[in-house]
Parts: sequence; structure tokens; C-alpha cells
Amino acid sequence: MTEQATVARPIEVAGTALRSGGVRRARLLPGLPDSGVVFVVDGVELAATIAHVEDTTLATTLAAGGVRVVLVEHLLAATMAAGIDNLRVELDGDELPILDGAALTWLGALATAGRTAQGAAVRWWSVSEPVRVETPTAFAMLEPAPALSLDISVQFSHALIGAQRWTGDPIARFGAELAWARTFGFHADAERFRAAGMMRGVSLDNTLVFDDAGVMNPGGQRAADEVVRHKALDALGDLALVTGRPRVKLTASRGGHAVHHALLRATQGVLVRG
Ligand SMILES: [Zn+2]
Repeated sequence: MTEQATVARPIEVAGTALRSGGVRRARLLPGLPDSGVVFVVDGVELAATIAHVEDTTLATTLAAGGVRVVLVEHLLAATMAAGIDNLRVELDGDELPILDGAALTWLGALATAGRTAQGAAVRWWSVSEPVRVETPTAFAMLEPAPALSLDISVQFSHALIGAQRWTGDPIARFGAELAWARTFGFHADAERFRAAGMMRGVSLDNTLVFDDAGVMNPGGQRAADEVVRHKALDALGDLALVTGRPRVKLTASRGGHAVHHALLRATQGVLVRG
């Protein structure tokens, strides 16, 4: 039997919030068996489940009970990769910090906090048959599989991105291949979002920014396919919105949070546990 696990000790992480630009703190605390990841805002508990997804514009926002939490996906990806099934995340506001724009800081914090088994058996989930969703520009599919795997493709017109694909086991390869891949964007969009007051915390410290000339970050890209690696990181975080550990293959082409969430909603009728 594989046991559920949580963090062995509490740990606090603080950093800039992407939308507001202020400093936000998150305290990661042990979670109860079978609880999954639960955010706590103003004393209200908000479980990280697909039913609580309110918005996916630029980042995944969860809302219920009069509270909301923005930018949950990178922490959720790190918890999946670290084998943390249950976690209580107490916040001092409605956003998680963007930190390094990837999942390295979260992964490091979880490693520092340590991991403790909880006795209860892991709850695995899969689908009884393939589920597919399509939009005019994207598609995503979940299929039953003996173990989690991803097949993620992107296509951007920017000369430095083009067509990219990442396939494999996102948990086994997370630290080496995905955790450092940053949030990315395009300079023209960043100006528009900032003008609308949406992204005050965006900086070259937390976001890979492409402009007409190439990459604005002084160090450039961390890999020629950093974009698709971040998409794979995000996809892993999205899969964490179904409580338990997945035994599925996720294939997504030109997708993103909105398509992944539509897929997870479509999965509810064929979800199998065991
Ligand atoms: Zn992301």
C-alpha cells in the first residue's frame, strides 16, 4: 500500500504577488488524510478542486464561501511532484506569491518541510474511457494509463518558440526538467495587463518575457523549449484539482488552464477511483 503523505513541519514562503504587486505569505501546514490541498483565507477553507475554479485568465483562481485564491497552479504542481497528498495552506491575502515564476521555490520549501506518511492509502483516480475536449484552436484528452504521463504541445508564431513538445512522466522528471521553467509572456501583452492594473508584480525576475527582438530577460531562456516545459508544469498543477493521484495520460495541444479545466469537468462522469 502506498500511503498518503503531508509535510512533516510547517514552513512559510513569502514573495511578490503577480496581480497586486504586494508581498503575500503562505504558511504550508500538515493536512488531514483525504483532505487534499486546502487553502485558508480569512479563516475560510477553500479546497483545491475543479468545482472551485472561478477563473483561468492568466492564472488559476479558486473561489467559494466568499473567498478567492489566485495563482494556485505552481504550488499544486510542486505538491504533486513532491508526493504531498494533503496540505493546509494559510494565506494572508487572496494571492499566492509568484516567487521564481516556476515551481523551484515551492519545491524547495516542501523539501525543507519534509514529508511524513499518514497511514491512509493513496486514493488513485483514472477515467473509464478516453475523454476529449476541443476548441477552435486547442484540444486536450485524458486516457486511462498505468501511470501518469503527459504529451504537451505548443505552437506560437514567435521565432524563438514555434512548435514545441514535451512528453513523459512529469513527476519523475519534475525537478530536472520542469520545475525551473518560468511563467512566460509577451511584452506587448504585459504592457496591456499592467495598464489595466492586472499584473503589477510582473518582472523579469519572475516571468520570461518575449519581445520582437527575442527574450528580454538578461540570462535568456533556461532551455530552448522552456515554454512547453512551463506548460507541462501548469498541466501537472491542473491535474491536482482532482483529489488523489492520477493514473492517466494527458495529451494537450495549444491548450492551457481553460482547456485542462474543461477536460477535468468533462471527466467527472467517467471518473473511476481505486
Ligand atoms: Zn504557470
